[in-house]
Amino acid sequence: RQPLLEVRNLQKHFQLGSGKTLKAVDNISFAIERGETFGLVGESGCGKSTTGRTIIRLYESTSGEVLFDGEDVHKLRGKKLLDFRRNMQMVFQDPYASLNPRMTVGNIIAEGIDIHGTLSGSKRKERVFQLLRDVGLNEEHASRFPHEFSGGQRQRIGIARALAIEPKFIIADEPISALDVSVQAQVVNLFKKLQKERGLTYLFIAHDLAMVKHISDRIGVMYLGKLVEVTTSDALYAKPLHPYTQSLLSAIPIPDPEVERNRERIILEGEIPSPLNPPSGCPFRTRCPMAMPECAAAMPEFKEVEPGHFVACHLHK
Ligand code: SF4
Ligand code: MG
Repeated sequence: RQPLLEVRNLQKHFQLGSGKTLKAVDNISFAIERGETFGLVGESGCGKSTTGRTIIRLYESTSGEVLFDGEDVHKLRGKKLLDFRRNMQMVFQDPYASLNPRMTVGNIIAEGIDIHGTLSGSKRKERVFQLLRDVGLNEEHASRFPHEFSGGQRQRIGIARALAIEPKFIIADEPISALDVSVQAQVVNLFKKLQKERGLTYLFIAHDLAMVKHISDRIGVMYLGKLVEVTTSDALYAKPLHPYTQSLLSAIPIPDPEVERNRERIILEGEIPSPLNPPSGCPFRTRCPMAMPECAAAMPEFKEVEPGHFVACHLHK
């Protein structure tokens, strides 16, 4: 059975005014199975949001393929493009900026319904009420405006809007990063509940591994526009192979103070290089504690070193 989403050698480059090329997404490949949550992680500027936006075709790709249900997203036209737009929806990072302050919550949630003309009148209203209940809000909220809600509630509204036309696939671009720590877990739990009820498939983007741990079945780690490691959540936390993944994991505090005191942290030297001027060879070599001469000479291939475990590093051949 084919995966619901397959990304093959995807590139998204931006030509800048200076004549330089920004390789925001540089030849990445991964697949997401139906009903799965794939976490995409990396520091800001690594290309994870651009990956999401290119998959959903907010950006046209530079090269490579995005296959959704077997169809190349970037070649869709007409009715097939419309179907794709219904089936893939996005939840944005900033629940303050992504909701129109002059629209009522009910009309915000019904945006997709109105664009696609799927329901009207009392059926439309009933769907909006149902969506509000599904995300833990209530009917009275439909006539209010976004500023009357907290960050967590606004993100619930953003989720209800994404669900309104019953998509199969949701790209959540750092949906909990802007929220208070105390509400992050609630929103993650809501994503999980909705997935279970509706059989949804998620691409869940985050800037640190702690945020995706409890939701992802598999995780991909990005660095400077490249995927450097992909495997199951369990394998990634138990046995990370890429030195960058190892450093990200070592930055997550461990609740047990005894363990926390005795473990070694990997502190990365230096800043993340400019994506406009990436290092030769392995993009991580300027900060990698394990770098060897060959790391400057050649970009390590992204390959499967154990079943389902992909890594791009000269230490793993
Ligand atoms: Fe480090 Fe070399 Fe592996 Fe890159 S290829 S992560 S520089 S050891
Ligand atoms: Mg981003």
